[in-house]
Amino acid sequence: MKVLAIGAHPDDLEIGCGGTLAKLALQGTGIFMCHITNGNMGHAVIAPDELKKIRVKEAETAGAIIGAEVINLNLPDLCIRSDNEDLVKKIVDIIRFVKPEFIITHSPNDYMKDHIETGKIVFDASFTASVPHFETSSPFYPELTPIYYMDTLAGVNFLPTEYVNITDTIETKVKMLECHQSQIKWMREHDNIDFSDFVRTVSKFRGLQCGADYAEGFTQCTVWPKLRTKRLLP
Ligand SMILES: [Zn+2]
Repeated sequence: MKVLAIGAHPDDLEIGCGGTLAKLALQGTGIFMCHITNGNMGHAVIAPDELKKIRVKEAETAGAIIGAEVINLNLPDLCIRSDNEDLVKKIVDIIRFVKPEFIITHSPNDYMKDHIETGKIVFDASFTASVPHFETSSPFYPELTPIYYMDTLAGVNFLPTEYVNITDTIETKVKMLECHQSQIKWMREHDNIDFSDFVRTVSKFRGLQCGADYAEGFTQCTVWPKLRTKRLLP
């Protein structure tokens, strides 16, 4: 089994579904983590050209912890548009290449445009990937792949309908997140935010809602024919 997670920026997947991806990896699932941007605007001091190299590397290190394949589409931050046909085509190609059992991406309620547009692109591309005459470098994938939306930042405006118990993988999730030192260090020093504690708190709160020590929450994209009778999340 293979699962594809698509996030806007390097570190979004670790924040939203890192514990679930770690859990799936332990169960033998092949994990593909796709980041659309290189995160080049994510710092107030380090210049974009230097930062993008650092962040792509940080994401690769984080993915390696769970043995994930990490794909970076190398777009600049703040430029994700769901009407970017070239970008949609790239995501179609990735879906056709991976042939995932399901895809995890950003919720339509998330806090900034790159995230929301990423969710729209995944919705669009997951349909388009099944269309035989839409040509990309990979042949069409006839499945209409189910999509799960991961939690919003800090869980605002998000009511999970499914939970994954990540008690056994919370430390891996935090370890993956801490690979993104350019972000963690900056936020700790200049915004007074301990981001590891932030993520731990959200996971603990989601755990409280479902009787686990730590959990991640998800909703499903409920359109025909992306629904299944069996639970797909671990
Ligand atoms: Zn982000």
